Amino acid sequence: MTTTPLEEMRKEYDVVVVGSGIGGLSCAAILALYGNSVAVLESHYAPGGAAHGYTVQKPGIDGKFQFDTGPSFFSGLNPNIRAKSSNPLRTILDAIGEQLEIIPYTTFGLKFPEGDLLHTTNFGGHNNASDISPLEQVGGPQAKEEWKRLMDQMKPLEKAVDAMPTAALRGDLSALLTAAPFLKNFATLNPLENLKLTAPFSKILDQAEVNTKFTRNWIDLLCFCLSGLSSKGTITAEMAMMMGEFYDSEATMDCVSNTNYLYSFLGLCCSSF
Ligand SMILES: Cc1cc2nc3c(=O)[nH]c(=O)nc-3n(C[C@H](O)[C@H](O)[C@H](O)COP(=O)(O)OP(=O)(O)OC[C@H]3O[C@@H](n4cnc5c(N)ncnc54)[C@H](O)[C@@H]3O)c2cc1C
Repeated sequence: MTTTPLEEMRKEYDVVVVGSGIGGLSCAAILALYGNSVAVLESHYAPGGAAHGYTVQKPGIDGKFQFDTGPSFFSGLNPNIRAKSSNPLRTILDAIGEQLEIIPYTTFGLKFPEGDLLHTTNFGGHNNASDISPLEQVGGPQAKEEWKRLMDQMKPLEKAVDAMPTAALRGDLSALLTAAPFLKNFATLNPLENLKLTAPFSKILDQAEVNTKFTRNWIDLLCFCLSGLSSKGTITAEMAMMMGEFYDSEATMDCVSNTNYLYSFLGLCCSSF
């Protein structure tokens, strides 16, 4: 009887992970950390899934151009900044003892039909800076008011999402041990706020009466960058984690200096077939 390559690998490895995106690599890295032999299979020619990088050389131009296929900005990966328990990728990198080389950015440029805008943590004007914020520039004072209402709604949600690290959740009885130290965090939270975390983010936007078209489009873009879906398809928990960090007045954006490093730092060997 013939065996398939996957069946052969099952004999050789404790776990075979199919797909070398950040999700697959993270699972494999943690499994390997706890002593399992792991193989990661990838159908593409490079590991990383949506988050891989590639290099282009142009005849007549010195040097190489490095492109990211998907994410360029990561949140909370700077090893010099305290890890947030709500950041699962940082939790994994810390657990496997790896640090990334990070280029911190405080601004980046945006080109929209409405004009060229400079993104800062005060994009919506909620930090009471005296300058006119980009959102106000495009959407007027109403956009600023809406943004402030939204950020006020986000504060308790951010606290709720920070209450329990995803790594503490597991499907067996040992969850009593891993989750127990964090249960006290829930005592200070409003259970109704927690229920909102699983709702589509568009509901939070509706509740905060965010109606300016440009603002809704901007948030749909942020949602797409996070989940590949608009605010109607992105759950609030994802945005609560992201918005809190993105619009903190002290925030810098972490650009991994070479996205390919992320995969080598996850410490894995990938086979493709
Ligand atoms: C354009 C864009 C911009 C983004 N920007 C950001 C950003 O700035 N910041 C951020 O945090 N996130 C960003 N994201 C989101 C982030 O990239 C994804 O959430 C993340 O990379 C998804 O990882 P994953 O492992 O879940 O899935 P994927 O990355 O989709 O990985 C799945 C892997 O499995 C492989 N595979 C599937 N089926 C098989 C099979 N049968 N056999 C072998 N291999 C298989 C695929 O080839 C792929 O490599 C962005 C996404 C996109 C598309």
